[in-house]
Amino acid sequence: KQLSSSQIRQMYLDFFKSKGHTIEPSASLVPVDDPTLLWINSGVATMKKYFNGSVVPKNPRLTSSQKSIRTNDIENVGRTARHHTLFEMLGNFSVGDYFKKEAITWAWELLTSDDWFGWDPELLYMTVYPQDDDAKQFWQEAGVQPDHIIEAEDNFWDIGEGPSGPDSEIFYDRGKSFNNLADDDPENYPGGENERYLEVWNIVFSQFNHEPDGSYKPLPRKNIDTGMGLERVVSVFQNAKTNFETDLFLPMINATEDFSDGKKYNADPKLDISFKVIADHSRAITFAIGDGALPSNDGRGYVIRRLIRRAVVNGRKLGINGAFLYKLVPVVGEVMKSYYPEVLEQADYIAKVVKSEEDRFNETLTDGLALLNDLVAKTKKSGAKEIDGADAFKLYDTYGFPVELTREYTLDEGITVDEDGFKAEMKKQQDRARNARSKNESMGVQSDLLINVKSASEYVGYTQLDVKAAKVT
Ligand code: ATP
Ligand code: MG
Ligand code: MG
Ligand code: MG
Repeated sequence: KQLSSSQIRQMYLDFFKSKGHTIEPSASLVPVDDPTLLWINSGVATMKKYFNGSVVPKNPRLTSSQKSIRTNDIENVGRTARHHTLFEMLGNFSVGDYFKKEAITWAWELLTSDDWFGWDPELLYMTVYPQDDDAKQFWQEAGVQPDHIIEAEDNFWDIGEGPSGPDSEIFYDRGKSFNNLADDDPENYPGGENERYLEVWNIVFSQFNHEPDGSYKPLPRKNIDTGMGLERVVSVFQNAKTNFETDLFLPMINATEDFSDGKKYNADPKLDISFKVIADHSRAITFAIGDGALPSNDGRGYVIRRLIRRAVVNGRKLGINGAFLYKLVPVVGEVMKSYYPEVLEQADYIAKVVKSEEDRFNETLTDGLALLNDLVAKTKKSGAKEIDGADAFKLYDTYGFPVELTREYTLDEGITVDEDGFKAEMKKQQDRARNARSKNESMGVQSDLLINVKSASEYVGYTQLDVKAAKVT
């Protein structure tokens, strides 16, 4: 079937509407009343209020296409076919209403019926938790061949105390030509780390409560929570090599070609990574700023800063010297306008924010890159394997290089960064700032300068939070 991304999104929502679900709008990326999460990272993250009983939904059957950000995947972007920082998660939810049988039967109908996706059953594989006999039975009753049902020990969704249960993931066989591994590689199966079997959907059967004492008690009211990556589904429909060769990303890639010094997508695998990173990050920063976040040195703001700076460095690799990322904001707005008209409406404001961050980084970027290249050369020459922590800190502090960016840049050269050394330097600076502050405070001085120093050093600590948050689905 030839379908656009907008049609596919709508088809999913319409299918579950036809099964009695209410369509929930895509919620803000900035979590509301949830200090455990930096960003909304899945559909279910916005539904916690229903699942924990604090809000009772009018209809216990809900469906949505939820914009989500996962920072734990930043470094995968551009290197795998399937990972983004911002993506849309299609989902259907049952708040104590239907359970495993309906969830499985409907999933199969959506995927294979000619009225809906119409995918070839031969190309679909389901993983199930080994003890979950019900799931195995329901998949078979729906029509899945037994040799397409695969047991996987890690198909159990559990984030500590609270609702938990087995899950079932659906993989689409993209064919041998997508294989990045040898045919006999042990990872070459649905669920392994490979590019052939694409994970498109995760269906969670939350049926236990993980008790404080570590035991699992059956829940009186069982829930369904699912997540399907829109971009991956679109890549299948549009027969794209990766998520990027689809109507969701090509407009930004093509615009970036025009900004470059004549570089073309699909000509050099190394440069393709840069095109993909830019296309991906342009979406994430546009949506994040549209939802009210701003670049800064901590929390969400640091994520935006890191994404913008990573995109700008990748722009340099394509021969782009001035600010350009801000020009992708209206392109993103145009691509997404059917479901997210508010992005295009705010495009001028978002572009202004992006441009000022780009300009600021561009001021020091040429010198920063020169220093970094010197450091790499020096390190290689001395036979060392690591960039000094103090040097990485100087790059951060003076030239605005997030340490993750330095790490990624040198990784390509086979060199790592002494991150403990970096942290130690960061801490020294924080201590200096604290001392200066307390001295000045005791004299009753409050200067803007000090407030700036404070925010410039308070960025550590988001990573742990984020890793925890990434386990929601
Ligand atoms: P993967 O193993 O490919 O990293 P996952 O198991 O971490 O995916 P889930 O947490 O199960 O992903 O999320 C549900 C669905 O959301 C996935 O099946 C996939 O289709 C989609 N998805 C997850 N992470 C990403 C991402 N970074 N970019 C695009 N889609 C994603
Ligand atoms: Mg993942
Ligand atoms: Mg997975
Ligand atoms: Mg999964």
